[in-house]
Amino acid sequence: MPKWLVRQMCDRTCIPMNVDEDTLLNVETVLYLSPHFDDLAYSNGGLITKKTMSAKFTLVNIFTRSVWAPNLKSHGISEERISEVRQIEDSRFCRKIGIRSLSLGFPDSSCRGYSNSNEAPLLINEEIIRKDSILNKVRTAIAEVLHRSRFDLVFAPLAIGNHVDHYCVFNTVHEMNLEGTQKVYYEDLPYCALLCMNEIDHVVSQRLQDAHPIVIDISNEIAKKIDNIRIYSSQVSANDIDAVRFHSRRIMGSEHLFHERIWVQVYGK
Ligand SMILES: [Zn+2]
Repeated sequence: MPKWLVRQMCDRTCIPMNVDEDTLLNVETVLYLSPHFDDLAYSNGGLITKKTMSAKFTLVNIFTRSVWAPNLKSHGISEERISEVRQIEDSRFCRKIGIRSLSLGFPDSSCRGYSNSNEAPLLINEEIIRKDSILNKVRTAIAEVLHRSRFDLVFAPLAIGNHVDHYCVFNTVHEMNLEGTQKVYYEDLPYCALLCMNEIDHVVSQRLQDAHPIVIDISNEIAKKIDNIRIYSSQVSANDIDAVRFHSRRIMGSEHLFHERIWVQVYGK
């Protein structure tokens, strides 16, 4: 077993899984669905820089129009300019790690009238998604991407933190019947650092039935991961970086070891 992938020791380990460490290592094609430009860097920026991850990797950014750029002093700067800056940051990130990316061009929650206080409601459900008319178009676009090419693995966010854009992507993938494609769900950083581990487990059990964690050792990649997150300089704050380090340490309860965690469903979707 590769040392960098450690199956979490918990009472779920005896359940047979659809996907395991070897599957992750040996797949040929991976689709990573990222609601916003920086989600891959935050949530799986360690995994993606591992030399042992040799799959052909396609990143699809979904909500790529935005007026959210806290470090740009964005008041008075147009949506077009902010979106352009964020696209440039992402292109730099993708060039640096050598992956190809596609932007779907949908307006994010900041363009659709949400604010910091209501873009991540305490309770989120299908009803909220249905009321947001753009989200049906998003679902169709994601479905087209998934049907145009076949991927061995598709990564989708768990929507921990209930961000409406993340939940839309989660729900779309979760509801789709994808013959021959294994779905993998990732923990959304930095949002999930705001929840304690029991709360994260609770969200996972609400979103997925019989889910099983796979824990990825990124101790050798954490410095590179943080460097790469900083490429998104219009977005990132010192608190965000602290949140990434905090969550990466607590997954295995070690001060010196850093991990990312992804979830697969044992049976069904
Ligand atoms: Zn996001």
